[in-house]
Amino acid sequence: MFNKFNIYKMAGDVLFDINTPQSMEDRMRDTWNNTADIEWIDPKKPMVALSFDDGPVRPVCETSPAIRIQNALRDAGMHATFFYWGCTYDEDTRVEIVRAQELGFEIANHTKTHPFLPQLTPEEMKAEVGFMEPILKEISGREQFLLRPPYLSVDDVVKETINVPLISCGIDSEDWNNATAKQMIDKIAKACENGSLDGKIVLMHETYDATAEAVEFLVPYLVAQDYQIVTISEMFKARDKEMQAGHVYGECPQ
Ligand SMILES: [Zn+2]
Repeated sequence: MFNKFNIYKMAGDVLFDINTPQSMEDRMRDTWNNTADIEWIDPKKPMVALSFDDGPVRPVCETSPAIRIQNALRDAGMHATFFYWGCTYDEDTRVEIVRAQELGFEIANHTKTHPFLPQLTPEEMKAEVGFMEPILKEISGREQFLLRPPYLSVDDVVKETINVPLISCGIDSEDWNNATAKQMIDKIAKACENGSLDGKIVLMHETYDATAEAVEFLVPYLVAQDYQIVTISEMFKARDKEMQAGHVYGECPQ
């Protein structure tokens, strides 16, 4: 559907833009109301936030990579964040989002049609971001949803216009760039071994069989390494770190 490789290269300069200077008033006004339940998390142990874009996936069935990813997390008692778009949302695929919510995962926003947000007017941006919000609200009962900007593409107008935290990544699985399951496993296992995985948000997509295969290996592997696999909101709350609207986050250091 999209040539993600070239688009990511184009968007490369914004890929790891973590901070935006803001006045203290703005920080107070735009504090993210983090409602995550962190009872089950030990803040002293290492943790990682796997995150999955471009769902829901058609058709919703046991062989769907999205359901395989959900099941791998469920079977280990772990969590993740799922960024849903409008492109494949309908009454049939809605059940996948409901299932994610019921399993304790974080459901989040990936726009209506997956545009480059910086190419839109502020009104168009709000319409794109506003499409999934009532759907996610009805399913979760929550009011605010993290946004992963398509292609991780943001500029100052996006940051000023969008009133929720913007989620980038600290590690890119490169599944969108045809990475194999083994390549994804090697990259994340290496980061686990050298300690750099702790606190990272990992970018993945729930649309690939290779990603599902990697996750089915990595979830029990990471648990055996004493890692907690948590949602993005859980990681920030467990580490007592605030998120703010219009800021870009790719990791949550200890
Ligand atoms: Zn996407």
